Amino acid sequence: MNKGGRMMISQIRKIINKLKGQKAADSEIFCSQEEEIEILNMLAKQNIYPFNYSETDKKGKELLEFIVTFLEKILKYINQSVNKEKQKKFCFLFVNDHSINAFATRYKDIDIVALNIGVAKSLYDYFNKVIDSEVFPEIGEDIEKKKDLVFDLQIFAIMYILFHEIAHIYNGHFGYDNTYYYRMLDYENHRKELDNKTIEMDADAFAMTQSYVLIENLIKVREQTPKSYNLRDYSYSTLMFAIYSFYLFFEEEVVNSDILHLDSYFPRRIRQALNMDIIENIIEKDHPEYVSKIEEINSLTIIKGEKCWEKYSNKPLNILEILSLQNEAVVKDIDKVFNNWNKIYDKLEPHARLPLASKR
Ligand SMILES: [Zn+2]
Repeated sequence: MNKGGRMMISQIRKIINKLKGQKAADSEIFCSQEEEIEILNMLAKQNIYPFNYSETDKKGKELLEFIVTFLEKILKYINQSVNKEKQKKFCFLFVNDHSINAFATRYKDIDIVALNIGVAKSLYDYFNKVIDSEVFPEIGEDIEKKKDLVFDLQIFAIMYILFHEIAHIYNGHFGYDNTYYYRMLDYENHRKELDNKTIEMDADAFAMTQSYVLIENLIKVREQTPKSYNLRDYSYSTLMFAIYSFYLFFEEEVVNSDILHLDSYFPRRIRQALNMDIIENIIEKDHPEYVSKIEEINSLTIIKGEKCWEKYSNKPLNILEILSLQNEAVVKDIDKVFNNWNKIYDKLEPHARLPLASKR
């Protein structure tokens, strides 16, 4: 193994140890150091190498530390709803790859989730460049408030991605066939397109639902200190903006209805819209008085999101991409995926650690 790899391990270990105040081997969630070395050797054979933690500055380290500690908390929380015998050890790593991607896999009896360092870097660059008081008036001209918001937005988008990968593990996506890897973006997978699309939709739905839980908990903490703005509005706006923005990094797709059935993922615009649908449905149940507000927030998110992306990428919004979604074939394709959920549900269920979304 290269030196960077060992460095990374010892750094993540330090974070874990600091957290636990005990020996690494005692972590309830993370696998042992020996197992991590085995996993990194296995990944190195596929040219996947960990990010060298020492290469980042203080701010970057803080962010990476925050992600690891937060991930541990979340896994513990999720595991509370999982039978003891279905709980596994976890290995998390940042991959030294500057493209936007993440993956979930298994090694022996260990769950693995990896996030490319490029995700954190690109999101930071993006949010730092586009966020100002025009996009979020709540921050005013205060530089510290802007920094905090950029941090929040990064975390929200990254956690959404990690939840998506965790869904592949916890919702039985491994085990129902001989799939070994789920990549966030993968144009070479060999699964049936329809099944893959259905599974990816399930992972997105899980990620959106968990992100909602996260924001509700954050509201509970933050409402302890009085704010000059509506905290709930602001929290939902920032969450939806973060998730919407992250999808803008995916390739633009003008839907071609002739080959739509060959795609293994829904186009990014549909994934963005389904996320909005999900949060609207949750809020209808949890905070019925808030339904029209969340619809308003979602509309505003699209406008803000597109304006910011245009500014950042220097590319005007492609109307054809949006118009192509109104195609009847798109509606049919979504229906087909929803119906496929009922079929795939029975296959996933025996491998799932958590209750799956109900059949439609
Ligand atoms: Zn996925």
